[in-house]
Amino acid sequence: MSILIRHSTILTQNDSRQQLQGDVYIEDHRIVEISKKPLSIEADYKIDGTKKLVLPGLINTHTHIPMTLFRGYGDDMLLKDWLAQRIWPVEAKLDKKYIESGTELGLLEMIASGTTSYLDMYYFEDTIAKVTEKVGMRGFLGFALIDFDTPEYKASELILQCEQFVKRWKGNALISPVVAPHSMYSCNPETLQKSLEVATKHRVPLHTHCSETRDEVYDIEKRYGVRPVEQLKKIGLLQKGTILAHCGWITKNEILEMKNAGVAVSHCPVSNMKIATGGYAPIPELLDVHVPVGLGTDGAASNNTLDMFETMKFCALVHKNHRWDPTVLPVQTVVDLATIGGATCLGVQQTLGSLEEGKTADLIMIDLKKPHLTPLHDPVSHLVYAARGTDVCTTIVNGKPLMLDNEFLTIDMQETLERAEKDAQELTS
Ligand SMILES: [Zn+2]
Repeated sequence: MSILIRHSTILTQNDSRQQLQGDVYIEDHRIVEISKKPLSIEADYKIDGTKKLVLPGLINTHTHIPMTLFRGYGDDMLLKDWLAQRIWPVEAKLDKKYIESGTELGLLEMIASGTTSYLDMYYFEDTIAKVTEKVGMRGFLGFALIDFDTPEYKASELILQCEQFVKRWKGNALISPVVAPHSMYSCNPETLQKSLEVATKHRVPLHTHCSETRDEVYDIEKRYGVRPVEQLKKIGLLQKGTILAHCGWITKNEILEMKNAGVAVSHCPVSNMKIATGGYAPIPELLDVHVPVGLGTDGAASNNTLDMFETMKFCALVHKNHRWDPTVLPVQTVVDLATIGGATCLGVQQTLGSLEEGKTADLIMIDLKKPHLTPLHDPVSHLVYAARGTDVCTTIVNGKPLMLDNEFLTIDMQETLERAEKDAQELTS
């Protein structure tokens, strides 16, 4: 398959963060040419990029995709009440049918709002992988491990099933398996060590929640006598290839430990503020010492969207406001976090995260003919402060258009919305 995008404003996100006016030619999954001169090449799809912005697809480094079914089901509650009264009772009723409809809904939302890769952590991850591959999205899919029975497997089977999952999907063009022990408070050290063994043996990333709330830090200190990052270090999980979600309550010493170990951080500002975790991940300090940082939405139950544009804006605003300093996290840095930063977290910066000849063709287009995107002094500023997910008009993953001029090509929108609505009502009734 080949695609030619013509006369567009191209935001490359390459090393020099080059912006140019020109054409992009894609063939068989790869970006073949980016040219300032008009390209006269035949292509299966010719897209007019006039008054449109082309940029790398956004990378969501933390979510729980089927939780789209719980969107708006339980807001404004304390985390422990929300989990105990709302989320856990409905999660206990989950089966493959619900996982399919929740995943399809999440994929539809991500394609519509310009996400081309997502890092997930949930139950029934094999079902999520099948749906993701069918729709053509790129998934880094974390098989969740936890110390109690899940709706799919008994706790005692989880490690074995996780390894089977990793073996089944490793090498797939779109799906990259990930080992995802839920957290230090829901997994004992033995589970975490076994998770690490599987990740190390098969050379796949490991993803876990870390220091999301102050209570979690107190709990880990009480149980193990050390703070969460130190505990991860003791068990061996603090290493390159580990991606920690949240890190809202970490210290300067923990930042140094993380830097020395080479771990990456997924920052989820909207979810953190909605749950009112209070702590702010020290993103400027993490970036100062070159810890890879990406942005995540977290699940739609605690956000309540998967819109990475909204996450970029909240990311910029929360740190400025928190520090009384508008110079913190400038727009280019925030766009970096959502693109090349996310790719670096996942260890795939050689193939994803920027538009460069030879790289994989995961990219999106934004329609600039909108009142809130006019005038255009700086496209990077617009991405963070003015654009919304709904401004995305075309989404291409692995050289294949999933949405072209706002038409979905690999998923039926009407059917997906109806099924998700019905299943969500059934689950919560
Ligand atoms: Zn999460």
